[in-house]
Parts: sequence; C-alpha cells; structure tokens
Amino acid sequence: MPVNLLDYDLAHLTSFCAELGEKPFRARQLLRWIHHFGESDFESMSDLAKSLRTKLVTRAVVEVPAVLADSTASDGTRKWLLSVGPGNGIETVFIPELHRGTLCISSQVGCALECAFCATGRQGFNRNLSVAEIVGQLWLANRALGRDARADKVTGDRRISNVVMMGMGEPLTNFDNVVAALRIMLDDHAYGLSRRRVTVSTSGIVPNIDRLLHECPVALAVSLHAPNDELRDRLVPINKKYPLKALLAACTRYVEGVPLDHADLDEAAPLHARVKWQRQAAPRDFVTFEYVMLRGVNDQIEHARELLALTRDVPCKFNLIPFNPFPASGFERSEPEAIRRFQEILLEAGLVATVRKTRGDDIDGACGQLAGQVQDRTNRKQRHSAEAST
Ligand code: SF4
Repeated sequence: MPVNLLDYDLAHLTSFCAELGEKPFRARQLLRWIHHFGESDFESMSDLAKSLRTKLVTRAVVEVPAVLADSTASDGTRKWLLSVGPGNGIETVFIPELHRGTLCISSQVGCALECAFCATGRQGFNRNLSVAEIVGQLWLANRALGRDARADKVTGDRRISNVVMMGMGEPLTNFDNVVAALRIMLDDHAYGLSRRRVTVSTSGIVPNIDRLLHECPVALAVSLHAPNDELRDRLVPINKKYPLKALLAACTRYVEGVPLDHADLDEAAPLHARVKWQRQAAPRDFVTFEYVMLRGVNDQIEHARELLALTRDVPCKFNLIPFNPFPASGFERSEPEAIRRFQEILLEAGLVATVRKTRGDDIDGACGQLAGQVQDRTNRKQRHSAEAST
C-alpha cells in the first residue's frame, strides 16, 4: 500500500526518505512541494532527482478527502463538505475578513461529547480524523482559493492567515493526530503559520490542555458557555468530568507557560529575560472563552455577573456567539438586546468581549448541519445498545 505523505510531518518524512535511501534534505524538499506549493504530482517536483520521483510514484501518494459540496455565501464565506468514507462527511469553512482569512477545520467525524446546543454533537461520534484528513483540509482550501501557501509578494498577506480547530469534533480527544497536523501547519517548510494564529478550541479536556502546552503550544480557546457547574453540566456534559474549577486552573497554567526546570535557567540572564523566556511557551497571554448566547438559558444579567466572578483570576477575552439555530435544537438565539446588555457588563469590567458576526447564513446554519445531511446514522444511544446486544 502506498503511504499518504500528508500524514507525515518533517520527522516522519525524514525517516521515510531514509527508508528510500535518500538524504534528510529531501524530506524538507518534499514538505515544501506538498504543502508550500500544494503539489500532489511527484513528476512535477522538478528539483527532486528522477530516481527519487520514480520511487515516490510507486511508494507514496498525496491524497486528500473528496469534495462532496462546495458553496460560497453572499458574504464570501465558503464551505466545503468533504467525504471521509462512505456516509461520512466533515466540514471545512473559510471566513474572509478585511485583514485576515480564517479556516475552520474539523478534527473528528461527529463528536462524542454531546453538547446540548451543537448540531455535530447530535450526530454522535464515528471516528477520529487522520493527520492527512486534518491537514488535508488546509491543503485543499489553499488550492481551492487559488493560491498556494506562500504569502502575497506585494502585500505579504496570505489568503489563509489563521486556522482555528473549531469545526466538527473535540480536537483534544484526537490529540496525537491534531498535534502532528499542527506541527505541519507551523513548519516553515510547509505552511509557516504563526503559533498565535493557530487556535485549538476545546470544550475542556483538562489533562490534554496541559499536554498541548508542553507538546505544541498554540492559541487556546475554551467553549465555556455557562458561568456555573450546574448549568454547564447541562450544556457541556464533559463538565461533569472536568468541572469549572479544574478547567480554569488549566487555563491559567496554559497562559503562564511551562515552568522552567532549575537546570534550564540561565542564572547569568537578567530577571526580565528569564521571565520573558518562561512566558514564550504560550503564544498568547490570554485564553479566549467562547460563550454561545442561548435565549433565556445563559444570557441574563446575573449570568454575566457570575461569569465575571468566575473568571476573575484568568487572563481572558470573551467571544459571545449568537446561537445558530438548527432543526429540533430546543434552543433559540438570544435577543440582540440581551447580547448587547451581556457584552456591556463584561466591557464595563474592563474585559475584551466581542460578539461574533453570523457568517454564511445563506449556505447553511450551524456547524455540523451540512455533514448531518450525509450522515443519516442511527442515534448514538440506539447504536450503542445495538452494539451491546451483538
Ligand atoms: S460543541 Fe464541540 S465538543 Fe461539543 S458536541 Fe459540538 S463539536 Fe463536540
């Protein structure tokens, strides 16, 4: 079976090249061709030796998920539905803005965490995406948007300047594949994205927040959605396992960075340099808390005040997200006035609090809806009881 080179970061490509009897610099060349230039045809990789190209044709492929649907909304938001096996679809969304272009990437087919307001959670969990399927979304989007991964020569702009792991699935329960994909996104020979511009969004898998800090620190967003455990247990059930106190402590550790071992400290360096070094581990000095605004559920003045008290000691920003309704969700979007009032309370306390613009309304609504149309699978609980009885 040929291997899919989209699964390989630089370290894996180096081992693969060694197996082929090739020098390590070939791995860097391959990484550049595949990701930086978006090339999948080995014969077109003109600075590779002919003998290597011949070996690659028989031993490897560059294969991305097939595009099932590709739609662009009137505001420029573009959404792809990708096939990752029979009956399984995932979504990737590109959101163009004035000074940046953000690609929202999926990490799993469906999701096991069953957040009450989430269309993806309703579909149940099927499987983790491979590294190739995760990074393949960025590869495809770059190609589809008509540019390779290079910045524009004149403006320095990139079409895709930011990546957010906020699509289908909980990225931190597919940890190893997500981290391998992140490393490819950050690699200068591949996409060269800044750590500050790559965000992992989690519903709060506490041990893996710590692991992320140690293994591949990027910007962190946390789906908070409630100011107390009682409400969060209902909206984000993983809260029963990792309650707010533990989650917020992990957020603080993330922002503070990895403590240095004494042996790593350069005693001769001035104190400010050592502190700076310590903090470099986390690319941003705040965590973004996402808070979906659900009418009459979590959008009242007392909720905003409770939120302020809860997050008092965590360096953070808030992103308020008007709920995007989907059929039989059981929730409604908060009134604009309620969102404005909620935001004002946070702003008055000196916090940064933005309201996310709803984008791409005319191509479909909430994340997971489009994929839900190809996944007419049995409800998770029915499926589990069926599996248990066989
Ligand atoms: S909000 Fe995220 S973690 Fe929760 S069910 Fe949806 S995809 Fe999963």
